[in-house]
Amino acid sequence: MGQSRRSHARSRKLIGLTAALAVGLLLSSSTGFRGASAFTFPSPLRLLIVTGGHDFEEAAFFRVFDEMNGITWTHASFGHGAEQKLELENSGAYDVAVFYDMHQDQEPHSREWLQVLEKGKPTVFLHHALGSYVKWEDYGEIVGGRANFGRDVVKWAPHTTFQHDVSFRVHIADRNHPITEGLQDFEILDETYNHFAVNPGVHVLLTTDHPTSETVIGWTHHYKRSPIVYLQLGHGPSAYNNPNFRTLVARSIRWAAAELRK
Ligand SMILES: [Zn+2]
Repeated sequence: MGQSRRSHARSRKLIGLTAALAVGLLLSSSTGFRGASAFTFPSPLRLLIVTGGHDFEEAAFFRVFDEMNGITWTHASFGHGAEQKLELENSGAYDVAVFYDMHQDQEPHSREWLQVLEKGKPTVFLHHALGSYVKWEDYGEIVGGRANFGRDVVKWAPHTTFQHDVSFRVHIADRNHPITEGLQDFEILDETYNHFAVNPGVHVLLTTDHPTSETVIGWTHHYKRSPIVYLQLGHGPSAYNNPNFRTLVARSIRWAAAELRK
């Protein structure tokens, strides 16, 4: 009797543990995090996705965000409302800004946007956003690095080269960071950039040793009160549909949002 009660109690405990594990797995798959508690948000994160100044395959790109758990998103492009969304008085409408633009004109929004960043706005820059505002010296301080795909000669960015359709290996440089925790090195078919500037103070997450690429291709840092992530990956559908790319983007958004709340 005693024996059977004990085993009953043990099996109940086992069931409890299994259920907890299942919930944990569910949580980790929905958030992309193993240590999900630090990144649990009371309601979906509201993203503002900013584009303009560079073409991309829109349907496939936005599908990445359609299929991302725990977020809602709106899209604005420069010349069609993005400038207004970056004004201080409108910046409360989104929790995280994701830039996938290569816009060059600082006016009329850059002063207001700087105020938003000084106050603190979690921000993720993807791929060609490294090459925005070539003539704006401070832009590199915001992103943590910069590229120059244009013909202008500027002292803060070398002339950047690019190579399409490169299959290369991405190395996880920091396996303990919440964005990269548990990820293994992976292959991706994507565009590489070479000869771009990376600020010395950034926290390096991703590197590659492919000869057509700069070594450091992903990092975090802070600009004023704003947590910032830059991921060089993300030219087109072969990257958008890579599960590692999707995990990195989702975790970058959640890390930046959580980092601001610390
Ligand atoms: Zn590209």
